[in-house]
Amino acid sequence: MEEDKTVFFQRELKTGEEMEKVKRNVLLNPGPATTTDTVKFAQVVPDICPREVEFASLMKGLRLDLLKTVNANPNKYTSVLFCGSGTINIDICLNSLLPADKKVLVVNNGAYSSRAVEVCEYYGLPHIDLKFSVDELPDLDLVEKTLKENNDIALVYTTHNETGTGILNPIREIGALAHKYGAIFVVDTTSTLAMRPIDIEKDNIDFCMASAQKGLQAMAGLSFIIGNEEIIKKSKEYPKRSYYCNLYLQYEYFEKTGQMHFTPPVQTIYATIQALKEYLQEGEEAKWARHTRVFNAIHKGLAELGFKNVIKKEWQAGLVVSAIYPDDENWDFEKVHDYCYERGFTIYPGKISTTNTFRLCALGAIDEKDVEDFFAVFREALNKYNIAIPIRYNK
Ligand SMILES: *Cc1c(COP(=O)(O)O)cnc(C)c1O
Repeated sequence: MEEDKTVFFQRELKTGEEMEKVKRNVLLNPGPATTTDTVKFAQVVPDICPREVEFASLMKGLRLDLLKTVNANPNKYTSVLFCGSGTINIDICLNSLLPADKKVLVVNNGAYSSRAVEVCEYYGLPHIDLKFSVDELPDLDLVEKTLKENNDIALVYTTHNETGTGILNPIREIGALAHKYGAIFVVDTTSTLAMRPIDIEKDNIDFCMASAQKGLQAMAGLSFIIGNEEIIKKSKEYPKRSYYCNLYLQYEYFEKTGQMHFTPPVQTIYATIQALKEYLQEGEEAKWARHTRVFNAIHKGLAELGFKNVIKKEWQAGLVVSAIYPDDENWDFEKVHDYCYERGFTIYPGKISTTNTFRLCALGAIDEKDVEDFFAVFREALNKYNIAIPIRYNK
């Protein structure tokens, strides 16, 4: 039997009544998400220097287990850990995986793909920003035409679930086009990984990414890239454009020493190992079913109040709902937010420049009952501030 590398710290972990109760907040913002108490307390461990062999073996198990979140074959794919929020992955993939004199194609229909475009701009990477409306799916014919006309495109990039709106992009189709024209395919899966099932190979993904605070229901501070190991090895020859944020250098250091090049987020790693254990216990399908229950409860609650959606329901990724502000002079997002926040529920503004929206998200260790409890409080807030129910729109 394989030795369980996580046992040593779990023995230290208090369970049940021994744990002090931490106030439970229901986070309906797009991450960080609500965590379980067992994940919170997994961080309370004896101090350890992360350069100890013991800690390296924990990270080895974590890197391997992370592959399971996207059904990746460990003979072909690997994961590389970084200390930082999710945006570090976008930065790293773009600056590390582009050969000299080649171009990036960003299939862009939202705020997170626009972030990737900004990364390209900051590094001076040749790129095409193929822009689509934030409430529309990308036109695949145009993607193909662009690839055909620009044979120097070596990296196609998009976002799986555009968290700013909640739209789901057709990654399998975009990936197939990238491969047809000899480019690698990098996808920002930060707001789907470990929630909406992903099959890295079938979905034609060469590199995907997430941070521990989102689908895994762990803490902010650890991010990871899962991708094709051969391509990482090949990228050794590509220009080094960053000292701290280079994929090959971090990969090589892990392979040689089992460690991160620089200080890892120690406590966050303990929490992530526990969260991953809980993810595997719950199971990919059951977890997706739970998020779907939460998502449906959000839709039900909004519909009962008369709120409109930005994105057609059939285009939504099933994790983020963007609702349009009512045309009501008493509507004040901040006041409604504060009322809910004081009662343990966090809601979040939208990320669309053209429409005023707020978002309710199905991430985290929550279930439909939490959403029902939220809507009771939300309704109280609307009543308190004399916002008409059902919600009014001028058109
Ligand atoms: C949350 C998120 C990120 C990372 O954002 P950070 O603020 O750096 O954590 C990146 N991409 C998507 C799609 C996200 O939802």
